[in-house]
Amino acid sequence: MILSGTLFKMTTVVGNPIQYYLNLSQDLVSINQLINKNISIKHIGYSCVICGKNEKIYRMGFCKKCFFESPYASESIIRPELSKAHLDEEERNLEIEKEIQLQPHIVYLAYTGDVKVGVTRESQVPTRWIDQGATTALPIAKTENRYEAGVIEVVLKNHLADKTNYKKMLNTSDKENIDLYKIREEVKKYFPEESSKFYLDNAEQIFLEYPYNIPEKTNAFTLDKNPEISGTLKGIKGQYLCLDNGNFINIRNHEGYVVEIAID
Ligand SMILES: [Zn+2]
Repeated sequence: MILSGTLFKMTTVVGNPIQYYLNLSQDLVSINQLINKNISIKHIGYSCVICGKNEKIYRMGFCKKCFFESPYASESIIRPELSKAHLDEEERNLEIEKEIQLQPHIVYLAYTGDVKVGVTRESQVPTRWIDQGATTALPIAKTENRYEAGVIEVVLKNHLADKTNYKKMLNTSDKENIDLYKIREEVKKYFPEESSKFYLDNAEQIFLEYPYNIPEKTNAFTLDKNPEISGTLKGIKGQYLCLDNGNFINIRNHEGYVVEIAID
């Protein structure tokens, strides 16, 4: 079977284990059942996720122009504390920024080999945690907008990691017993006074199980280094496909890449 289209991040459905779908130009291909089958992914072009042009992808699926101009790639997407829509102030497009920022957000703890703190829109729970490959996560604050969540995250980043180390994540088992309630209690004291009303003391820690076993080695592979990757699919975790020769490919980092995928 040969499929082709533009890669978007994989779509996921919670289950035991999580169900993954490759998203090729919005056509979804269920891939859990492709584990132990041969797969090859070949890079044949680009299609920016905003403008659709065949321009080299700069970051996050955007061509360089869109990355610096689109409201979907503005600074507050990466750094929530810089959000300004709640002040009626525009970064790039106030209407879209209001849509993104003025909705409930969650500050959470997640375990990806380290306990990290993060912010996400409430509607992105638990997708955001699955995309990071977290084996467990716990919401610790719920705010009315993105800015309020960013303020809490900035303070907690002084005490916890905020980035995922992909090698650690790929070498973490979902059998590890991590008590996030204890860490929630420990970080409560760091909440800024004006943010304490957002603290959640009654959320439940959730556990996520991936179709994945820790391999002997991990080599990050990109279609920039080599335009074709192939091997036997051995597992899926976060946004990574793991192949038999220790090669991993982060599908999310290839958003906007036009590819041909052969499966047999
Ligand atoms: Zn573009």
